Amino acid sequence: MTRHIVAIDQGTTSTRAILFDEAGKALTASSREFPQHYPQPGWVEHDPEDIWRDTLAVVREVLTDETVAIGITNQRETCVVWERASGRPIHNAIVWQDRRTADVCARLRDEGHEEMIRRTTGLLLDPYFSATKLAWLLDHVEGARAAAARGELALGTIDSFLLWRLTGGKVHATDITNAGRAMLCDIHSGEWSSGCLDLFGIDRSLLPEIKGNAELFGETDPTLFGRAIPVAGMAGDQQAALIGQGCFEPGMVKSTYGTGCFMLLNTGSEALLSENRLLTTPAYRIGDETAYALEGSIFVAGAAVKWLRDKLGLIDSAEASEAIARAAPGDHGVTLVPAFVGLGAPHWRPDARGLLTGMTLDTSAAHIVRATLESVAFQTRDLVDAMRADEAGETSGLRIDGGMAQNAWFAQFLANILDTPVERPASHETTALGAAYLAGLTMGVWSGTGDIARHWEVAARYEPSMGEDERGRLLAGWRDALARAMM
Ligand code: ADP
Repeated sequence: MTRHIVAIDQGTTSTRAILFDEAGKALTASSREFPQHYPQPGWVEHDPEDIWRDTLAVVREVLTDETVAIGITNQRETCVVWERASGRPIHNAIVWQDRRTADVCARLRDEGHEEMIRRTTGLLLDPYFSATKLAWLLDHVEGARAAAARGELALGTIDSFLLWRLTGGKVHATDITNAGRAMLCDIHSGEWSSGCLDLFGIDRSLLPEIKGNAELFGETDPTLFGRAIPVAGMAGDQQAALIGQGCFEPGMVKSTYGTGCFMLLNTGSEALLSENRLLTTPAYRIGDETAYALEGSIFVAGAAVKWLRDKLGLIDSAEASEAIARAAPGDHGVTLVPAFVGLGAPHWRPDARGLLTGMTLDTSAAHIVRATLESVAFQTRDLVDAMRADEAGETSGLRIDGGMAQNAWFAQFLANILDTPVERPASHETTALGAAYLAGLTMGVWSGTGDIARHWEVAARYEPSMGEDERGRLLAGWRDALARAMM
């Protein structure tokens, strides 16, 4: 009998469901965009009811009688607090991009807490992670602290919230990759850390149970889809992409170019603590194998291309950037530092802002378009340099995915700037595929990670073809502009 798996991909701007077959091939997909809420500058919220409504709708659209399991992958760090009795959120979800707790993080850093956080959670004291957002919800929603003390509330990231709703309020659990982004988890033991819980004033009883990635999390309430379906796999979006890209060996690295860029390097069973301001994060726990990753997070990648289209009006579509960049001269001299929301790894400068340098009267729109694509490659180079400085192992090339990975000019320039081969896989849906693989492993559809790795197929490979001099000149220009943006 044919076996299908449904992957729920709950992202920052859309909620999708994709149906996969046993070959890991995407058969059908359904997607809904949902509203973003910006109540104040720097604040970003989602209505969890939008997310739930869309999740039900997209799953119902792709579900088949042959579906044996559901896998979930989700935007990480975004968090929700809800009532256990009713399942109702007490406030909108606070999204990963939200900077409202920047002051709290700065104060905790001044008080000297960052080293404990880094050693325990592998993260840096930044509002990006969930802990200060969860504390904010408990402190600012009237009566929340008292309700929490009475045991009436549940806390979690989007995966936990969806799991709670899907199981009809029966299961409050998360997986190690999502837990690892809360800034509350001891990534070495895989348990909630007492030191972090105390620091942020969060009681352990409010938090979900932490499970591996390929496990039976629960069964869907039969009233939702007409029968109970096992939820059998779960992982945060970037870790799911690592799995979907088949990066199971230490030294393998993937980079996803969507709104932002997230590069993960598999470091195997070692949780390597970065000395170069990268993050250490659980990559997956499958059976009794735990793997870690070094992660570089860049906040603006495809978002800069969207800015060219929507704010500057220089291109009609993101795809159009490819032909324009290809036709533009290589010695245009323009450098863009896309620090529109500050800079992430490895600089971590929330105060930096965007900068365009090197313009002359000859500078044209095409030069700026090309400089924008180039800036994403330069930022990636900074991550790779930090990984090399951490002696995280020689990488064997880079597997790329996400919207920008479809841009062949960008992929070639990336290979040139990194001086390493870049590969794009046949599957466009590596994130959802990763969630499907996890659920399929639990159900015995695939026998193990080796089986999954064999399914990976290359669609295009880009070999570095730039001379050392040219690369050196371009990188010098980038570093000069970057230094100015951080002044
Ligand atoms: P997300 O999952 O973060 O919403 P996607 O992986 O869907 O992102 O990628 C969408 C992003 O990629 C957009 O920001 C868009 O500007 C950019 N993008 C899409 N196609 C291209 C392309 N051909 N060239 C450059 N950028 C692109």
